[in-house]
Amino acid sequence: MEPMNNEYDIVIIGAGPAGSTIARFLDKKYKVLVVDRKSEFENQKNEKCCGGLLAPDAQKMLAVLGLGVPKSVLEDPQIFSVKTIDNNNQLIRYYQRYYINVNRDKFDRWLLSLVGSEVTISFDTLYKSHIEENDSLIVKLVKEKNEFTIKTRILIGADGAISKVRKNAFSSENPDMYISLQKWYKTTADMPYYISVFDKEITDFYSWAIKKDNCLLIGSAAENGKDANGKFTLLEGKLRAIGYDIGDEIKKEGTIILRTRKVKQLAFVNHHVALVGEAAGLISPSSAEGISYALKSGYYLAKAINEDINFKKGYLKSVRKLKVNIILKNMKIPFMYNNFLRKIVMKSGILSLK
Ligand SMILES: Cc1cc2nc3c(=O)[nH]c(=O)nc-3n(C[C@H](O)[C@H](O)[C@H](O)COP(=O)(O)OP(=O)(O)OC[C@H]3O[C@@H](n4cnc5c(N)ncnc54)[C@H](O)[C@@H]3O)c2cc1C
Repeated sequence: MEPMNNEYDIVIIGAGPAGSTIARFLDKKYKVLVVDRKSEFENQKNEKCCGGLLAPDAQKMLAVLGLGVPKSVLEDPQIFSVKTIDNNNQLIRYYQRYYINVNRDKFDRWLLSLVGSEVTISFDTLYKSHIEENDSLIVKLVKEKNEFTIKTRILIGADGAISKVRKNAFSSENPDMYISLQKWYKTTADMPYYISVFDKEITDFYSWAIKKDNCLLIGSAAENGKDANGKFTLLEGKLRAIGYDIGDEIKKEGTIILRTRKVKQLAFVNHHVALVGEAAGLISPSSAEGISYALKSGYYLAKAINEDINFKKGYLKSVRKLKVNIILKNMKIPFMYNNFLRKIVMKSGILSLK
């Protein structure tokens, strides 16, 4: 890895799946810097709060990118079904699903390890702001309490749901915001499926439970402005009441999760600034699956920049299919989140496991 300089062609803020994918595929002719506030070595500080399930779309994209998931990244068990608990209609169904259960921090670090050594990576570095100066951008960063600036031709916001790059460079409408809480509990119980809970008393989105080695991870996404902690306690109580033996809590985490309900809540390019992954608003509004969008948009942006440093047209063309995909996911929402329609779907038994 190169030491940090003060002039780059491309600066990427965020080394999550989106940022790592761009950095991996950008042409070697560009001088690239990746900045992330997280530490170089595994610790719980700034770890991504995530369910860590790789859905089929993410698996397919990993295959397109020429990747298979290493064993060191996997969590026990691998899951082939979802148990859907509908508390509003008092229904339970099992559906076949193909997920890869991963340790999210290890997954991110593995993707980052694939980035070429010609790319400079600066950990423990916080992006603060940027200004335009002639045909370049001056980016303000903070590392070890020292504030400094660097110059770049292109700035990429791969900084996730609470994107500061988006806030500083775009005035477009933001996606709807939910507060997600996740708690980890010690458990010895078997749980060979993933649980999704639909319950309007808790949220108009959904809640989940996933076994992760010898832990049970429970999560929920509460509507912004509602009492997220209180709703979580209600969820815990309801899971206990149906027989889940929730052990001692060992970790609690929380963050914002986006729900993009309209195309105008997506943002991609503005002058010399581009957005990818959740910073762009790319996340499924029906399931909160975001890793596939991060991988896809990262790859599309790298390809567009490799073809032409004036990448705007190329990138906007390739993300058209992602926009269509977000529209289709929104069309699915009534069948999942409207009590009456969900009741019909679940009662019919269509696609459910006996
Ligand atoms: C609770 C929860 C559960 C989820 N479960 C799943 C799931 O099971 N499967 C799935 O596919 N998706 C899931 N998602 C969505 C998924 O986590 C995101 O959509 C995905 O991580 C987006 O990737 P990204 O690279 O765009 O951003 P991120 O993964 O969020 O990465 C952003 C990076 O930018 C860094 N950063 C942020 N701000 C700054 C700054 N100012 N300066 C420097 N660095 C900065 C962060 O440290 C981070 O490394 C979940 C989301 C949540 C909140």
